[in-house]
Parts: sequence; structure tokens; C-alpha cells
Amino acid sequence: MYLKSIEIHGFKSFANKIVFQFHNGITGIVGPNGSGKSNVADAVRWVLGEQRIKQLRGASMQDVIFSGTETRKPLSYAYVAITLDNSDHQLAIDYDEVTVARRIYRSGESEYLINGTPCRLKDVNELFYDTGIGKEGYSIIGQGQIDKILSGKPEERRELFDEAAGIVKFKRRKAAAQTKLENEKQNLVRVNDILSELEKQVGPLEKQSEVAKVYLRKKEELKTLDINVFLLENKKLREQLSSMEEKYNLASNELNETSEKYEGIKEEYERIQQEIESLDVAIEAAREQLTDTGLMRGKLEGEINVLKEQINSAHGSENHLNNRKAALEEEIAGKEKEKQDILTDKKDTDTQVQEIAEAAAMAKADLEAIQN
Ligand code: ATP
Repeated sequence: MYLKSIEIHGFKSFANKIVFQFHNGITGIVGPNGSGKSNVADAVRWVLGEQRIKQLRGASMQDVIFSGTETRKPLSYAYVAITLDNSDHQLAIDYDEVTVARRIYRSGESEYLINGTPCRLKDVNELFYDTGIGKEGYSIIGQGQIDKILSGKPEERRELFDEAAGIVKFKRRKAAAQTKLENEKQNLVRVNDILSELEKQVGPLEKQSEVAKVYLRKKEELKTLDINVFLLENKKLREQLSSMEEKYNLASNELNETSEKYEGIKEEYERIQQEIESLDVAIEAAREQLTDTGLMRGKLEGEINVLKEQINSAHGSENHLNNRKAALEEEIAGKEKEKQDILTDKKDTDTQVQEIAEAAAMAKADLEAIQN
């Protein structure tokens, strides 16, 4: 098992995403003071679950997020992922390659991922037990820590050796088992206390037990009686049920017939309703026609009155004209008589003219004869 790569994005001085690829052999990261070498080790410590911000040289956990420079805005999250080759399956997981990632946002939200699947910090810790990897492991040794290991107390060194020997898992299990054992001991003491308390109650309990036995016997009898009552009631209810079922069937048939009738009546009702509606329409039309006819009648009556008036006035004119006619006829008769008189006068005159003409002709002839 070896570290294949570290991906860092937004963690401390690494604003841009950077991937460190490691191959078999030794890889060194070189640079001037303050250029960010320790930040790489911090990133590894952080992704393995470091919770103590002092170990990461910051004041709060959000300090690990890239805080910006004069030319670059701060980022909103930090992300680190380490990928380990697990083809020898030293890590108790079914993958040949394991990627452990951690992400934190400025809002405080954070998450751990193993091969892209969200998980708990506990899962990350358990994955690396006894592998030497882990925030307490000997695989990350910071500046000045060699000194501390060599000059430190034996019990501080012990942890490192335990990890190297691969017994941390067992020590932790032992500690958990001891805690459990202690709890069980406490429980046992409590059980013993309860037992001695109960022993004191045995005498009264025996009496109570006798009473309880009687109670149980009576209860059994009651149960038998209850069962008998239940069976009787059950039989009665069954009979009632079958008669009810018959009644129900009858009622159901009646209901079906009534429903059919109801449907028929409903259809008839709807048909009549439609008829009523069309009659209403016809009545309305007739009413309108009646109104129109009334208006027409009024108009015609007016016209008749006017005509009557005209007839009356015509009658008046007729009388006047008749009188006039009679007067004119009288006048005509007078004139006729006058005409006859004139004609008679004319005839006389004509006769006289004739006689005069004849006398003139004779005189003329006499004249001519004389002249000749
Ligand atoms: P030395 O060898 O002296 O310890 P180094 O190369 O290990 O130096 P680091 O201490 O890893 O350098 O990096 C420090 C640099 O990281 C500083 O320039 C600091 O400004 C920068 N830095 C730390 N945290 C942040 C952050 N949150 N945002 C931006 N830059 C940061």
C-alpha cells in the first residue's frame, strides 16, 4: 500500500486545484520558507480527520480555506483528497484503490467521502487503524516532532510503537470491552441489591401467590364460561346473520329494481323538463308576438280613427256638394230654358234673315236687271 496522489483545491495557499502524483521511491517537495510545503502535510493531516486546529496552525477550522491575496478573491470551500494503492488489501475495503476526501465550506458545513461516497469521520478513522496512517500515526511526522519523540515520556512514545505494531485496534477493543465489563459489574451489583430486597418480600409474596393461584383457577373457570357464552352468542349471531343476509338479498334486489325504475323516471323527468323548456321558449315567442300584435292593433285603431274622421269630413263635403249640385242643376235648367228661348229667337231671326236674304236676292236681281 502506498500513497499515489494528493489532490488539493482551496486549502490554505493552494487556490488552484493541484494534484501531486507520487511514484515508487522517494518524492521531495522543495521550496523557500513560507512557500507552502508544510501546507501539503497539513492537507494530509486534515483529510485524515484532524480536528485540532492548532495542529493545522490556524485559529478556526475555516482558516484552512484559501483566504485570498491582493490579486485573488477568497474561495468558499477547501477540498483535499488522498488516493492510496490498496492492491495488497491492507485497508479493510474491497477496492484496489482508495480515495479519502474531505471538504469544508465557509458556512461550516463539511463532509468526508470514501471513494466518492459520503461517510462519517469514524469510518475514516477505522479504515486506517493499525496501518500507521492517521492523524496520530507515525506516517506524518511534523517539524520538531522527531525531537519530541526521542526526548518525550515513554507513555507518549508508546502510542507510536503500538500503532507500528498494529495493536491499536486491539487496545481500543480491549478498552471498549473493559468499559462494557465495568458497566456489567455495576449492573450485577444492582441485580444483587434487587435480589436481597426481593428475598425480604418472599413471605408476603407466598401469601399473595396463594391468592393469585385461587385467582388464576377462578379465572380459568371464568374463561371456560366465557367461551361457552361466546359460543352460544356466536351461534345466535350466525343465525341472525343468515336471516340478515336473506333480508339483505331481498332489500338488495328491491334496491336494484327501484334503481332501474328511478333511472326510467329520471329519464322521463329529464324529457319532460326539456319539453317544458321548449314550451317556455314557445310561450315567450308567442308573448312577444302578442305584444307586437297589440302594438300593431293600437297603430291600426289610430289609423281607423283618422280614416273615420276623414269619412266624416267627406260626408260633410258631400252634403255641401249635393246642395251645390242642386243649385247648379237649377242654374243649368234655367240656362237650358234661356238657351231654348235664344234658339227660338235665333230660328225666328234665321227665318227673317232668310226672308231678308231672299228679298235682297230679288232686289239684287231687280238691280241687275235695271242695270242691264
Ligand atoms: P516553512 O518551511 O517556513 O514552514 P513552508 O514552505 O512550509 O514554510 P507553509 O508554512 O506551509 O510554508 O505556508 C505558509 C504560507 O501559506 C504563507 O504564505 C501563508 O500566507 C499561506 N497560507 C496559510 N493559510 C492560508 C490561507 N487560508 N489562505 C491563503 N494562504 C494561506
